[in-house]
Amino acid sequence: MRDPNQNPWPGNPNAYECPWGCNGTGSMPWFAHIQGGVCFHCHGQGWILGRGPATPAKPRQRRQWRRVGSQLVEVAQ
Ligand SMILES: [Zn+2]
Repeated sequence: MRDPNQNPWPGNPNAYECPWGCNGTGSMPWFAHIQGGVCFHCHGQGWILGRGPATPAKPRQRRQWRRVGSQLVEVAQ
């Protein structure tokens, strides 16, 4: 597993490491047979931009996760 990507939005408090399996690397080697293992949550970026001025509000609610120790905890909306 390679190192996590650098934050493409440095200083943006709404940017967070992709918590859905790629852990910030942007790739999921065990999905190499699907789209070359590119994480489909962060589209290979390793980072996701949460709610903020950079992304217009969408009707669908987005779940946010925060890393606490070794666990992922859902951030209350
Ligand atoms: Zn990802």
